Amino acid sequence: MRPNALFSGKSLPEYKQAISEAGAVVADAVASANHPATPRPPAHLRSVVRQVDLDRPLGELSSALEEARDLFLEHAVWFHDARYQAHLNCPVATAAIAADVIASSVNTSVDTWDQSLAATHIETHLLEWLAGRLGLGDLADGVFTSGGTASNLQALLLAREHSTADGTPLDALRILTSPEAHFSVTKAARTLGLAADAVVHCPTDERGRLRPDGVESAIDDAEKAGLTVMAVSATAGTTDRGAVDPLAALAQITHGRGLWLHVDAAVGGALVTSSRHSSLLDGIGGADSVTVDFHKTWYQPVAASALLVRDRRMFAHSRTNADYLNPEHARVPNLVDKSLATSRRFDALKPWITLRTHGADAIGSWLDASLDLAQEAHTIAEAMPDLELFERPSTHMLLFRFTAVDLEQRDDVNDAIRETLFMEGRTVIARTRWGGETWLKLTLLNPMADAADLRATFDDVVRTGHLLAGDLSAEVSA
Ligand SMILES: *Cc1c(COP(=O)(O)O)cnc(C)c1O
Repeated sequence: MRPNALFSGKSLPEYKQAISEAGAVVADAVASANHPATPRPPAHLRSVVRQVDLDRPLGELSSALEEARDLFLEHAVWFHDARYQAHLNCPVATAAIAADVIASSVNTSVDTWDQSLAATHIETHLLEWLAGRLGLGDLADGVFTSGGTASNLQALLLAREHSTADGTPLDALRILTSPEAHFSVTKAARTLGLAADAVVHCPTDERGRLRPDGVESAIDDAEKAGLTVMAVSATAGTTDRGAVDPLAALAQITHGRGLWLHVDAAVGGALVTSSRHSSLLDGIGGADSVTVDFHKTWYQPVAASALLVRDRRMFAHSRTNADYLNPEHARVPNLVDKSLATSRRFDALKPWITLRTHGADAIGSWLDASLDLAQEAHTIAEAMPDLELFERPSTHMLLFRFTAVDLEQRDDVNDAIRETLFMEGRTVIARTRWGGETWLKLTLLNPMADAADLRATFDDVVRTGHLLAGDLSAEVSA
């Protein structure tokens, strides 16, 4: 074996060298990246990557890092770039990256106490702090997961087990949610073996929020049909419109009827740190389960998400004991008792170190800055004649489209604008469909961006739109 290839007390000089080399390669790449992306077509990237012969190692870390720089970093998508405005990817706190180095070096696995010691208590203390901020009460508890998809799945698993304890069959279960809820709710319903029509979409208002009266009548309809409402799944921050469902009213309805309220706050959970916008979450303390993604709006590297529950006893619904790992009457806290995963990274260290360095108020102020930016984006685009806006942003997202084009070509041109800009690499935005039509989308999470960055994006959209519309009409007349 090559001496000192593995991390140990004997390889510390190599370790320090490796960490600093890796840091330097990233820093160089960031320093020379002028754009959020420099994409090449998939066929090109595939062939470049496939040229690497995995049976011929390079022998030196520095060579492998150089190769990774050329293959990956040169074409990376940079979420810290102010012109990256597409999806729910945040610039990350440098403190969190440092924490990740520690978590990977020690390689703690937080499944059992005897593999993690204080790490178990750090994760638990962090989630108890968050549960306290959310107002979930004294019995609350939580566990880290790999993402909002996993958190939603486990929340709905707990709700399913809770509502079938009396023998209710799976195919009688219904989940009431918004048509704008994240698709992981539907995926979870499938994974959980529920009926194909288990997810019932309730009416929303003009801002895309669930209507409490609509949820109430959907509950009545389900009950009249002999069905069981397994959960009402509200969203705090929808993926396309950033809408926050009326949590207090929904909590009142679900409590009155003894129903499980899940709140998917993958996007909006961080608002709890905001001094100006935390009232959007009013009522979240009435939830039975809450999903919070630290890697969406808490400036944390992927993966870092949490599932919180109001009543820690509910975790018994997903618990399985193994004699070799977490025997039933263990006298130490084993987080695997609460987790669907077994081996699990110490992801809690990232938000922990971030909070210990900067504090929750700093996160709240970064969020406030990005929410201000979304409002500013609306004001800027409103003044541009060739752009149409969908609505004033509720939180981070702005939907708009280029309209100086024939109606029949509008969707195609807007799709082409996004693709063209992406391949140019300077302006990275998203697209979605609303009411059967294509809209462009900005997701603004970067507090380092400013009005000039927004103007540049809208200018690029309009310029590209005119070029593409011109191309299309030339094609039609040819
Ligand atoms: C992103 C998102 C999810 C899924 O979270 P992942 O961390 O990507 O698995 C769930 N719900 C909402 C509202 C989201 O925006």
